[in-house]
Amino acid sequence: MNKQEIDPYENELGLCHVQEAPTFPTEWWVLDKPLETFEGEDISEAGTFEVDLFARHDGIPAHRQEMLDNSRTVLVGGGGLNGAAGLALVRSGARHLTIIDPDRAELSNLSRQFFFKEDLGLPKGIRLAKNLRSHAFLGGTITGIGVPFEVAVDDYPLPADIFVVGVDNNLCRLKAVIEARRRRIPAVFSMLSSDGMRGRVFLQGPSPLDPCLWCALPDLDPIASMPCVSAIISACFMVAAHTVFLVHRAVMGWGGMEPFNWRELDLTGSSTERIGRVEKRKGCSVCYGL
Ligand SMILES: [Zn+2]
Repeated sequence: MNKQEIDPYENELGLCHVQEAPTFPTEWWVLDKPLETFEGEDISEAGTFEVDLFARHDGIPAHRQEMLDNSRTVLVGGGGLNGAAGLALVRSGARHLTIIDPDRAELSNLSRQFFFKEDLGLPKGIRLAKNLRSHAFLGGTITGIGVPFEVAVDDYPLPADIFVVGVDNNLCRLKAVIEARRRRIPAVFSMLSSDGMRGRVFLQGPSPLDPCLWCALPDLDPIASMPCVSAIISACFMVAAHTVFLVHRAVMGWGGMEPFNWRELDLTGSSTERIGRVEKRKGCSVCYGL
């Protein structure tokens, strides 16, 4: 049994079909402005038939719009997973977003990520922030940062009530786990399987007593990444929908719903969808190594 059969979310290195690393001019990597801020336009007073921008949120279980409006979300990653999640968060009324992603938008991203021709070659964090601006109907601020997460954490205050982590490498996930724990804030992690058909979403609670991502997935290899595996927009949207639901719950509470922190989904229906509560794991290298 090979590793892929054991865990389709973990990827053996070498699946990328890049023959050799392309070379770029050095100055290409130097950003004049590694952080840019974009303001949304508040059109909440422009009502025609229904005067309330979020009238259809009325009656949604546990929904408290003012809590979402005032929440501050840091999106770690601005690709297929967090692009869709960011769009949904902004549209649903989250007014303070920061998006961190140093990767450059490429042609192959356009099939599922929120970039356009003019974004190609530019940092995803900044360009996604720019592109989400027109979706921010309640105004608010969307900040894009084009440096790696660990650099952004050192260089900027990054005000956040929650992290939303949609990246393709475990090292960044690990850094986000630790930083969220240090700040005592929740974090939602999303990931796709290597065949692009299945997804996992996990809500790490804010307390050190809550299980971390490594409690849920102890075999995650911090040095493994899967940047060139299959991905399609249907899976990204499927996972993003559940990511946003968990963000909403972390921000607004569960009301009468039964809380859970783990969800596993499959577009094809060939594997069992799982939902439940991951418990803290004795001996977890992250929880007990901090
Ligand atoms: Zn743990």
